[in-house]
Amino acid sequence: EQEVAEYRKSLAIRVSGFDVPRPVKRFEDCGFAPELMRAIAKQGYEKPTTIQCQSLPIVLSGRDVIGIAKTGSGKTASFVLPMIVHIMDQPELQKEEGPIGVICAPTRELVHQIFLEAKKFAKAYGIRASAVYGGMSKLDQFKELKAGCEIVVATPGRLIDMLKMKALTMMRATYLVLDEADRMFDLGFEPQIRSIVGQIRPDRQTLLFSATMPLKVEKLAREVLSDPIRVTVGEVG
Ligand code: ADP
Ligand code: MG
Repeated sequence: EQEVAEYRKSLAIRVSGFDVPRPVKRFEDCGFAPELMRAIAKQGYEKPTTIQCQSLPIVLSGRDVIGIAKTGSGKTASFVLPMIVHIMDQPELQKEEGPIGVICAPTRELVHQIFLEAKKFAKAYGIRASAVYGGMSKLDQFKELKAGCEIVVATPGRLIDMLKMKALTMMRATYLVLDEADRMFDLGFEPQIRSIVGQIRPDRQTLLFSATMPLKVEKLAREVLSDPIRVTVGEVG
């Protein structure tokens, strides 16, 4: 414990919350299945980044997490890898419809990046992912969602449109990620985010990632996450 505390201090890692699982040092310590380990190796990821070392075991334990770390620190894999495990853990995966993992991100570009990363790890399992964002034909998007998927990566506005059109149901969504929450607020997506969260069952696992934690984001986190563990890496404003 002393060692963990010293190490965290040296990297400006702060972790707070109840019963925090110990960090991992290697992907091998995460209990990932061989297919997933192979996909990680194929990506060229040799060892987890600092935020991944801290947050992977927490997210894998099913706890809600607030992850705060600067751009480029590897936040995407922190929520995408446990999402694959979460999806594969669902009983009777085939029986119901609608995404299990729902990821909201502020812009089309970010949605696309996360979508690509998710697909790389989802492929080995036949898990389907859809990217949903403005600028693409609503009809095409509607049709794609109707065909079914386990993961939706979306900008909040377009996801609301698709929910209104009943292109998808949130009935089996149990893993919600709000990525770059601060930027989503900057872009005025707070009402859409609240609406989406309100349509997802309360027994979900919720993860919120952000480079900064302005008061408004802090307030949302307090409302939509349950007993979250907060992981902060580096000096952030
Ligand atoms: P963030 O969301 O924190 O801005 P990303 O998840 O986009 O960061 O990751 C930044 C870059 O680091 C990406 O190119 C990603 O492929 C790479 N990356 C992520 N995790 C690892 C890892 N464990 N080892 C090597 N590269 C990684
Ligand atoms: Mg990111």
